[in-house]
Amino acid sequence: MMAVLNIMKQIYLYTNVSSSNPKCFYQPQYVDKALICDKFVLSLNSRIVFQLSKNQIEDTFMHKGLRRKLVEEIRQKGISDENVLAAIGSVPRHLFMDSSFLQFAYLDKAFPIAAGQTISQPYTVAFQSQSLQLKKFEKVLEVGTGSGYQAAILCCMGASVYTIERQKSLYEFAGKLLPGLGYRPHFFFGDGYLGLPTYGPFDKIIVTAGASFVPEPLKQQLKVGGIMVIPVGKSDLQIMKIITRVSENEYLEEDKGGFVFVPLLTGISD
Ligand code: SAH
Repeated sequence: MMAVLNIMKQIYLYTNVSSSNPKCFYQPQYVDKALICDKFVLSLNSRIVFQLSKNQIEDTFMHKGLRRKLVEEIRQKGISDENVLAAIGSVPRHLFMDSSFLQFAYLDKAFPIAAGQTISQPYTVAFQSQSLQLKKFEKVLEVGTGSGYQAAILCCMGASVYTIERQKSLYEFAGKLLPGLGYRPHFFFGDGYLGLPTYGPFDKIIVTAGASFVPEPLKQQLKVGGIMVIPVGKSDLQIMKIITRVSENEYLEEDKGGFVFVPLLTGISD
């Protein structure tokens, strides 16, 4: 509850952005849509309209030190792919969250972002990234852009990333933040259940929300020899499935243990 109150205190919505002295106010009814991160100010229709200056997205020695500790923690938990560990050590996770939550940014924990969604736990991001067996320049589809952190990790690993999000405010947030940090995935607003048929097939597919079943369009958009990583199950627990497309009509499925994700939902949300 304290966290929620703190979040609410952070939110300022500008009524008139073009004004040189915009009036600041705070309205709880917009919290769900507005709360993303204090790197941006959102207008009343939740469009991102204002980006803070460069010195407010700084990455200090302290942040780097915290990341080094996080990398060691994740290594201890069994992640061995050095490219994944290097990416976790490089991407400034604190910039994907509100700056008042710095103390949470480098804990190995999921954390709430906007619209009732979460930024995945770093171990989970690392586990899914490692499971993709990624090679440089491979074409990867991510379903569930969220904060954009996972997409940044994949970019950092040299993939060509296509990421799709169903929540407009998150799609817009990540679409502004990542290029500002030098990560350039292709962003799409839409229903990831359908994948991106006109951009596929993909070498790899990563789904970062819990699905109740494996969507057929995603299977179809996987190259033969390609790998899909997808958590499948009920809302309180999903099993991480690694699905390899062995031939045109054959898929090999492996189960890799229990994880908890927010649900994969159908349709889009403005
Ligand atoms: N990869 C994200 C994790 C976000 S949580 C990160 O690194 O922060 C899962 C995200 O999946 C949420 O943002 C949610 O809105 C999104 N999502 C859920 N169902 C979806 C769907 N059908 N298509 C696209 N995105 C979806």
